[in-house]
Amino acid sequence: MSFDSLGLPAALLTAARALGFESPTPIQSAAIPVVLGGADLRACAQTGSGKTAAYGLPVLQRLIEGNAGRFGAARTRGPYALVLVPTRELALQVGTVLRDLARHLPQRLRIHVVFGGESINPQMMGLRGGADLVVATPGRLIDLVEHRALALSEVHTLVLDEADRLLDLGFAEELQRVLGLLPARRQNLLFSATYSPAVVRLAEGLLHRPVVIEIAQTPETVPDIAQRAIAVDTTRRTALLRHLIETHEWSRVLVFVATQYAAELVAEKLYRQGVYATAFHGGLSQGARTRVLDEFKDERWEVVVATDLSARGIDISDLPVVVNYDLPRAVADYVHRIGRTGRAGESGLAVSFVTAPTAAHWRLIAKRQRLDIPLETLEGFEPTEEAVPASPVPGAEDGNGGIKGKRPSKKDRLRAAAAEDAKRREADGSAVPDLRTRS
Ligand code: AMP
Repeated sequence: MSFDSLGLPAALLTAARALGFESPTPIQSAAIPVVLGGADLRACAQTGSGKTAAYGLPVLQRLIEGNAGRFGAARTRGPYALVLVPTRELALQVGTVLRDLARHLPQRLRIHVVFGGESINPQMMGLRGGADLVVATPGRLIDLVEHRALALSEVHTLVLDEADRLLDLGFAEELQRVLGLLPARRQNLLFSATYSPAVVRLAEGLLHRPVVIEIAQTPETVPDIAQRAIAVDTTRRTALLRHLIETHEWSRVLVFVATQYAAELVAEKLYRQGVYATAFHGGLSQGARTRVLDEFKDERWEVVVATDLSARGIDISDLPVVVNYDLPRAVADYVHRIGRTGRAGESGLAVSFVTAPTAAHWRLIAKRQRLDIPLETLEGFEPTEEAVPASPVPGAEDGNGGIKGKRPSKKDRLRAAAAEDAKRREADGSAVPDLRTRS
């Protein structure tokens, strides 16, 4: 199938081609005509499937059509389309894609990206001239509405991007508040990589007779990602990582760890051992995070050690290797993490380190993800650790990476609640301690 047959105008086709999109991905072929037709949509789309353009192209087209009479002097404040995303990285990335796609349209669209973690004032100033389309994280959106910088009464298209993550990060309440501010008649598009009962409930309350698109994981749509699992002692993971980087001459590696502290520690250890490594997490300022990503793309860093939340939405083409130094807490995160590599048709490699305390959790991930890969042992890194009961502390460095499943004590529950709170603030950017990068 070609883009030309999907009913999109020439200006959008030119922009898509300029981004290197020769033919539509399966989710794009399926979703674009549905969205153009005005129906509600529930799409199950994996990370890296091309979902941003799947909704971006038709939403831009409908924006132009629907507001044709309003451009020029009669243009109201808007916004007419609202895209809600879980993290500021995804907000920035979606904003960039939408601006690129809108580049050749005859009208200059006012596309604004708003998220927490930065002063609200410039965002309020930016919105003074009105907006046609807003990409937002929920917390900051509500702040802006409360400051009267934004009204949502004219939104005729709502997109929930990565709905599963929005709920995972505890945005259910904010979502309901936002929904209450929107006009009743509107088009709703919900994209999610996974469909937990909570996402299904959200979809049922939100969508009106939706078209449901589930792109089967055919060989064509499954990214080409080789997966390996290596057994190693907890304390030897950094040495193993270095060994792999050196022996395979990996030029660019994204390493996942459980906590900000671990990200700093592992990056520091590697850096001291001569590997150009740096940390990437919600404790860094937005400016520092953007800089790290730009420098990673420019190959100034060999290794970026990241936490799950801040790594959401990272889109680096030609990222050959992802390493799970700590296994992900939630099984579904395994897919999100490994999906950072093997994007847009490239091949990739995902390596998971499995320690004695995390072996049971690995078996659970492998079972749920239907992975049929051997647990390897590498010469010189043969594990000697005894299997011990999992540490209940979420994300304990040099522990179990924060595994679910052990009955928590009251203290653990309090800790977990504090961690959840920190996680949410990290996602929406309200926690921004000191900047710390290397130059
Ligand atoms: P997304 O799932 O929207 O984050 O997109 C994942 C990656 O696929 C991004 O790097 C896009 O630039 C790329 N992409 C999206 N659509 C296409 C397409 N039709 N052809 C080639 N690459 C694409």
